[in-house]
Amino acid sequence: MRALPTDVFGRHSRDLRISVTDRCNFRCIYCMPKTTYGAGYPFLARRALLSFEEITLIARVLIGMGVRKIRLTGGEPLLRREIERLVEMLAALPGLSDLSLTTNGACLTRAKAQALRDAGLKRLTMSLDALDDQTFSAMNDVGFPVSRVEEALSNAANVGFPPAKINMVVKRGVNDHSIVPMARRFRGTGHILRFIEYMDVGTSNGWRLDEVVAGAAIVDIIHREWPLAPVSPNYPGEVASRWKYQDGQGEVGIITSVTQPFCGHCTRVRLSAEGRLYTCLFASEGHDLRYLVRGGAADDYIAQAIAAIWSRRHDRYSERRSAETAALPRIEMSYIGG
Ligand code: SAM
Ligand code: SF4
Ligand code: SF4
Repeated sequence: MRALPTDVFGRHSRDLRISVTDRCNFRCIYCMPKTTYGAGYPFLARRALLSFEEITLIARVLIGMGVRKIRLTGGEPLLRREIERLVEMLAALPGLSDLSLTTNGACLTRAKAQALRDAGLKRLTMSLDALDDQTFSAMNDVGFPVSRVEEALSNAANVGFPPAKINMVVKRGVNDHSIVPMARRFRGTGHILRFIEYMDVGTSNGWRLDEVVAGAAIVDIIHREWPLAPVSPNYPGEVASRWKYQDGQGEVGIITSVTQPFCGHCTRVRLSAEGRLYTCLFASEGHDLRYLVRGGAADDYIAQAIAAIWSRRHDRYSERRSAETAALPRIEMSYIGG
């Protein structure tokens, strides 16, 4: 099979994010606000979704073209029935070095965690935006309690998952007072807390720049409590910048896609639940692969189609963010996968 070409800026494709559903049981105000995602929202129909076999086929082609890491996401990936079957199919593909899943934890029972582990899932990322129920509810907007996410974290640990990455989106005036409590909770546990700048993904969250807490300010806030020192990336193009506690109690990650964009190293390719390929989180248009797969196209033909898309890729939205780009249509994160 041919090697994946580099894009217009010389970037390879290494990481594949697969959205397995556009549905979610949370209504996080920064992702699926109720004003847009209320009753009657036209979510994708069951038959529109790629089957596990179709997803695996596309993943196999992309691995043949250089992808080494796969993350399952959504929407909420654990809402997809028998997701562990997909995990098992993907884990069996030769050439993959990492297989992970990002979840809000609501459906991560002990049995589900065990099934995912047995199927070959390597790592979990869990999202948690605060440690007190009032603030967490203000973020998830469905009254979901912190204790249930803590329970999910324990379930994951009890079945042998390594310490998780914990994603916290910081929105000024809503949960920025939770930065220090969250850091305190996860220091010294092995879990890696990652602070994510609130992003202008999609157009339904009413994003405003003044609601973003800059990564540098987050580092300062933590540094005042527990001195931090920068650490070099684990690998070129790592999204989170790493900071370690000087007292040896582990590290935190900061994802600064607004204030310090990292498009130059962006090797991510995204597959939506209905089989559209996206080359940027902020894209307006995807490329339909479902019709190729359902039409019985050979692997090599699909590879050629993807190579043609990738070689034309010139995305660098975060580096170009401006009043002009703000007016462009953008796909929603719950659809494309975070
Ligand atoms: N439902 C799962 C979850 O929340 O973990 C997986 C999908 S979610 C879209 C993936 C990640 O995207 C989550 O950690 C979430 O916090 C993050 N996210 C969603 N909207 C965001 C935004 N506007 N800015 C920054 N991060 C966002
Ligand atoms: Fe659902 Fe995840 Fe989006 Fe929150 S961030 S609404 S949990 S998909
Ligand atoms: Fe990659 Fe697009 Fe994000 Fe830049 S804005 S890092 S190109 S996904």
